[in-house]
Amino acid sequence: MLRHNGAMSERIIPVVDLRHSLPLPKSAATLFALNHPVQDLRGRALHDLRISVTDRCNFRCSYCMPKEVFHKDYPYLPHSELLTFEEITRTAQAFVALGVRKIRLTGGEPLLRKNIEVLIAQLAALRTPEGWPLDITLTTNGSLLARKAQALKDAGLQRVTVSLDGLDDTIFRQMNDVDFPVADVLAGIKAAQAAGLSHIKVNMVVKRGTNAQEIVPMARHFRGSGVTLRFIEYMDVGATNGWRMDEVLPSARVIEQLKAEWPLVALTASTPGETAQRWGYADAQGQFDPRLGEIGVISSVTQAFCGDCNRARLSTEGQLYLCLFASQGYDLRSLIRGSLTDEALRQQIASIWQGRSDHYSELRSLMPADSNPTPDRKRVEMSYIGG
Ligand code: SAM
Ligand code: SF4
Ligand code: SF4
Repeated sequence: MLRHNGAMSERIIPVVDLRHSLPLPKSAATLFALNHPVQDLRGRALHDLRISVTDRCNFRCSYCMPKEVFHKDYPYLPHSELLTFEEITRTAQAFVALGVRKIRLTGGEPLLRKNIEVLIAQLAALRTPEGWPLDITLTTNGSLLARKAQALKDAGLQRVTVSLDGLDDTIFRQMNDVDFPVADVLAGIKAAQAAGLSHIKVNMVVKRGTNAQEIVPMARHFRGSGVTLRFIEYMDVGATNGWRMDEVLPSARVIEQLKAEWPLVALTASTPGETAQRWGYADAQGQFDPRLGEIGVISSVTQAFCGDCNRARLSTEGQLYLCLFASQGYDLRSLIRGSLTDEALRQQIASIWQGRSDHYSELRSLMPADSNPTPDRKRVEMSYIGG
């Protein structure tokens, strides 16, 4: 049985139990001008769409898919429940008309989805109302990247983010909990660079007491390599990882450790709603040196960034989530598989976004450490709606 905050949980609730849908807006009559970004109740425009293409993964990172819950009998979604590539592309097109300019494919492990490059090619063919291609990227654990990088690039993928929680093989094998070696992820990153994927990022989730000693070695390894390393605070996402505040290492501590090794200068955000705070390695004159590159910190726990959160999330079977910490989504699949026109689909999505007020992390930051702003509600898992 799984531990939650030191206490034994009463019962492990399969994550599928939580996949209820919120009622769709009764009337999609809310007026909006097509091809103009829609805004939510807090004035946040829709800009970024994260699409989970599978709820399965070949890793069992304890902070995301602990083995005790995601065991061999875990009820993953059957294939017929998943959105097809055509359904995903049609839905993405509706989002693009409403302001989305960036699409991130995620999961589970997105490279496990068969023929993922076919979906990438379909998404790469989409155009904004002004005729521009979209910014398309993908987050992967890197295990299949060495094999797939060239096909992904050829299909139209521009960028990739690889998750890697340390360089020490023992620590990494323990964290992925399937004994997967660091060397194979590093080979995937090299293959992505060789294939011409640009702006490669590496995400490291930092868990105090588990891999904090890997912060400086990771920074040393990627400094000057053309890869941007980002340190992510361990988040209380989902309901299965037994999250505890004392396992979160605040990003401010990460920056302190790095500053003790190298001079760093703060950089400005490169895009609206950017989740990472950027720091550049400085030269002898104290100026940012692009050849040495930059690092980022994503302080989801200690510094809420709900204020400009412009991200919508589409689950593997077509539920639209407005926040990583939401407990329910909106069933877009029933709309897509119904007889709705493209315009009616756009209007429904616009109405849903216009009713959005989610700001979970802000609420949590106003409460005592370890408290849960939504204790009565179970949250969906990261592996189901993607990071
Ligand atoms: N399997 C892919 C991967 O690991 O890159 C994509 C999906 S994974 C859910 C997306 C990102 O979420 C990864 O970078 C992962 O490290 C991060 N993540 C998962 N659980 C997390 C947690 N509890 N706190 C912070 N980041 C987490
Ligand atoms: Fe899999 Fe990614 Fe979750 Fe790790 S973080 S278990 S690789 S989905
Ligand atoms: Fe966005 Fe929700 Fe995270 Fe706030 S808590 S930044 S609204 S996903």
